[in-house]
Amino acid sequence: ACYLATGKKLMEQKNPLFDASFIDEDRINRLLAEARRQSASSAPAHLLAVIDRAREAEGLSLEETAQLLFCEDDAVLGELFRTAGAIKQKIYGRRMVFFAPLYLSSFCINNCLYCGYRRDNKFERHRLTLDEIEAEIRALERMGHKRLALECGEDPGECDLDYLEKAISAIYRVREGNGRIRRVNVNIAATSVENYRRLKKAQIGTYILFQETYHRETYSQVHPSGPKRDYDYHTTAHHRAMSAGIDDVGLGVLFGLYDYHFEVLALLSHAQALEKSFGVGPHTLSVPRLRPAAGVDLRTFPHLVTDRDLKKIVAVLRLAVPYTGLIISTREEPALRDELFALGISQLSAGSSTDVGGYASAGSAQSSPAAPQFQLSDRRSPDEVIADLCQKGFLPSFCTACYRQGRTGDHFMPLAKSGSIQNMCQPNAILTFKEYLLDYASPAVRSLGEETIAQHLARIPLAKTRAETEARLERLVQGERDLYF
Ligand code: SAM
Ligand code: SF4
Repeated sequence: ACYLATGKKLMEQKNPLFDASFIDEDRINRLLAEARRQSASSAPAHLLAVIDRAREAEGLSLEETAQLLFCEDDAVLGELFRTAGAIKQKIYGRRMVFFAPLYLSSFCINNCLYCGYRRDNKFERHRLTLDEIEAEIRALERMGHKRLALECGEDPGECDLDYLEKAISAIYRVREGNGRIRRVNVNIAATSVENYRRLKKAQIGTYILFQETYHRETYSQVHPSGPKRDYDYHTTAHHRAMSAGIDDVGLGVLFGLYDYHFEVLALLSHAQALEKSFGVGPHTLSVPRLRPAAGVDLRTFPHLVTDRDLKKIVAVLRLAVPYTGLIISTREEPALRDELFALGISQLSAGSSTDVGGYASAGSAQSSPAAPQFQLSDRRSPDEVIADLCQKGFLPSFCTACYRQGRTGDHFMPLAKSGSIQNMCQPNAILTFKEYLLDYASPAVRSLGEETIAQHLARIPLAKTRAETEARLERLVQGERDLYF
């Protein structure tokens, strides 16, 4: 009640911690109308010029982004995809960072029309006990995971911050063999500055919250009741998190709720607003697409995004914000994920479950989890995904070093932009992948992975760092773990 009262007062003063007027719908609509008009009347040459400028990896303006989003010409799209791939290669090399979601609780007092966990859906809900969390963590560690995204419905009665704090400290504590979760990202409902301070103290990595849709009218239609219905409070959550000292925040749109052209421009406006207030934009962007779920009939959503448009969205984002991580989840099919990796995705989930208790119960007959939040499309194990990535020339990474070395927020960006991060990320990817090969890989992936490591060692720019990486690889073979730059 106290923060709501303060919130109301601040709202009157247009405080970006509570007032989302940085999402300027009129301006976005004007930019889109102009770009649509241009795309209908001019040759694609102007788009090629925009793509050409983007090669410098200095980002795009909202105007340029709008123009590219209306591109329908196959040849120009081909050029867009090649350029996105080249920018990704320049900044991230061939590294792909792994994570897994961990669903803690399916209790939810919201009624989001797209979600299987919404309040009106009747099913047996569950919140993991600390023992059950431990079982989940052991199962995740046995798959090789080091980085998690915690997920839960919003229910202050069933899943409050005290519970989350206990869950996070339990997660950091549990060890299975050499396994340890080293970074816990958190995807929970918008909350107060005070609560974000507590999450920061609990040593979370990134605070992630998806906007779902930036379009106010659609937002209010798909959120008929519950605290999440408050567009301003939800949209300003990242501002509050950053003002509470959380350096890394993640944004996202649930594609399929409203016109993707609008959503992408709004997402970038949000990123710009954060950069303006805090000197650094979001750490990651997520691009989930709407999936079937209990009581969710996709045919009733008129703005579903095609595979081709999703590829365009990922490529345009890679050009628009070259240094921001782009995340893809197992909502997408393996073949499409492969294409998206090449276009700019830098992080992926694998072996995921969207069930509360889904990891420990997998393959066991005793308990089957209650209900998933939505259906998944890529059900391969991390080992299978890794085999595939290695065959395609990517370097799987389980790195969590930046956040543990304090390279977050505005400490990270100058390093990334100067290119010196290459001498940290590439060795760290190799070292964490080696740990995976030693502790978790199947025999086939182990030999494939050793070849991958040999190829990627050669790409560490500094000879001195290369030699040090080789020395540390040997230390890992001798039994040490968690060696990072
Ligand atoms: N309950 C919090 C919230 O809504 O912000 C935490 C995250 S919720 C467990 C994770 C995300 O799942 C939501 O932000 C939403 O974008 C996504 N989601 C919900 N229903 C979905 C569906 N049917 N298909 C794909 N993603 C969905
Ligand atoms: Fe609850 Fe989040 Fe699902 Fe909405 S999206 S119903 S808030 S779990």
